[in-house]
Amino acid sequence: EPELSEEFQLLLSWADEERKIGVRANADNPEDSAKALEFGAGGIGLCRTEHMFMDAARVPIVQKMILAETFEERNAALDELLPMQREDFEGILEVMQGLPVTIRLLDPPLHEFLPDKEELLVEITKLQILDPESKVLKEKEALLKKVRQLDEFNPMLGHRGCRLGMIHPEIYEMQARAIFYAVANLADKGIDAQPEIMIPLVGHVNELKEMRELVNAAAQSIKEETGKNFEYTVGTMIEIPRAALTADQIAEEADFFSFGTNDLTQTTFGYSRDDAEGKFLQAYIEQKVLPENPFAVLDREGVGKLVETGVELGRKTKPGLKTGICGEHGGEKSSIEFCYNAGLDYVSCSPYRVPLARLAAAQATIRHERNNEKEAVIAK
Ligand code: PEP
Ligand code: MG
Repeated sequence: EPELSEEFQLLLSWADEERKIGVRANADNPEDSAKALEFGAGGIGLCRTEHMFMDAARVPIVQKMILAETFEERNAALDELLPMQREDFEGILEVMQGLPVTIRLLDPPLHEFLPDKEELLVEITKLQILDPESKVLKEKEALLKKVRQLDEFNPMLGHRGCRLGMIHPEIYEMQARAIFYAVANLADKGIDAQPEIMIPLVGHVNELKEMRELVNAAAQSIKEETGKNFEYTVGTMIEIPRAALTADQIAEEADFFSFGTNDLTQTTFGYSRDDAEGKFLQAYIEQKVLPENPFAVLDREGVGKLVETGVELGRKTKPGLKTGICGEHGGEKSSIEFCYNAGLDYVSCSPYRVPLARLAAAQATIRHERNNEKEAVIAK
């Protein structure tokens, strides 16, 4: 049952004729991907693979992977995850039928995957009273120790994104292999796939360089193993100010940039994206310290300047470098206009915001062209 009326579809088709900026959707499963297509998305701009790991049935395996003491333990968990991931990617790529799909390698706030410390402590206390000599108690105590080792004061500034891939390359390798197995499998079925593999939270070109080499090696190995040839690209999120400021270097290693304006807002303002809105931000807006919530509407003077700088520096190294945005702002009207003016190739937002993003993109284009015409008249 289509959700959009015929009249609205017609209006959207007019908008598509006008707009000069692409609209993609953020989706992590085949259902959302199908929704995205139905609403007219031109591809997937962000597939957050950590969401696949949060599936209840998988959490124990993911915990084994994170908490592993040895290579062998970690590899055993990864071997279990690989076929699941292959199916995840195959499902999405199949729905998208050759449209670009940006798959971001794991960017977990690690703490979200760990067993709950408080609960563990309660269990341990109980066992200490009821069964102090038990094996279970020893195991729980060891687990708590490990959880405490992994604990961070600032998880959002911690061991996440590509920092995880750098320290545990076998995790990213498993994901890259799963993507390429999926692509090779689809090729067998005559289905085209266009994966764009994206590295999160890059702050230094060396991180991207190393992770790209890892992805390329995985591709090579799957090509040899399956005898299939396939295309893919490797790009990066730009979501750390340092990445925007050194985008000329980063572009050497990137086929595309996608601005992660959620983290870029967090790191540019130094506001925790998990806390600020619930604490002082509302008061700031009421007192007119800030005109708007920068997590909702792109802050042009600070965050926007970094986006413009990133695009400019990236394209200095690689003219025509493909750029997009996949933070929440990609679905917000005035931020979309900003993205168009900054020269981005596409915005990406939740599937349900795609129709409005298509309209906003058309409005931005029309307004821009009118302003150009006015300026031309004035210049005469
Ligand atoms: C971002 O930071 O803007 C982004 C799209 O990634 P995530 O929200 O998953 O951190
Ligand atoms: Mg991010």
